Amino acid sequence: MTMTISVTTEQWTKRHELHLFRQAEQRPSSAGWTECQGTGLVHLVCNCGYSSGWIASDDMPSVEQLMADHGKAFRSIVAGF
Ligand SMILES: [Zn+2]
Repeated sequence: MTMTISVTTEQWTKRHELHLFRQAEQRPSSAGWTECQGTGLVHLVCNCGYSSGWIASDDMPSVEQLMADHGKAFRSIVAGF
């Protein structure tokens, strides 16, 4: 039996895996449960190296811009409100 191993010289490229994190905060309530709210900040991170840092959601790049730069979101983690 002969096995053939294919060897390529193609360059490795980083794929886009855009994630969106919405910052949330919490505190215990006097009723014994936990209150949660969004801070209004978001952080966009992509496997390609892009990171927005914590920015106001109003300052977030448009969906059209994000799609042009990173393609469709690979996975999104959305927490908060
Ligand atoms: Zn990307």
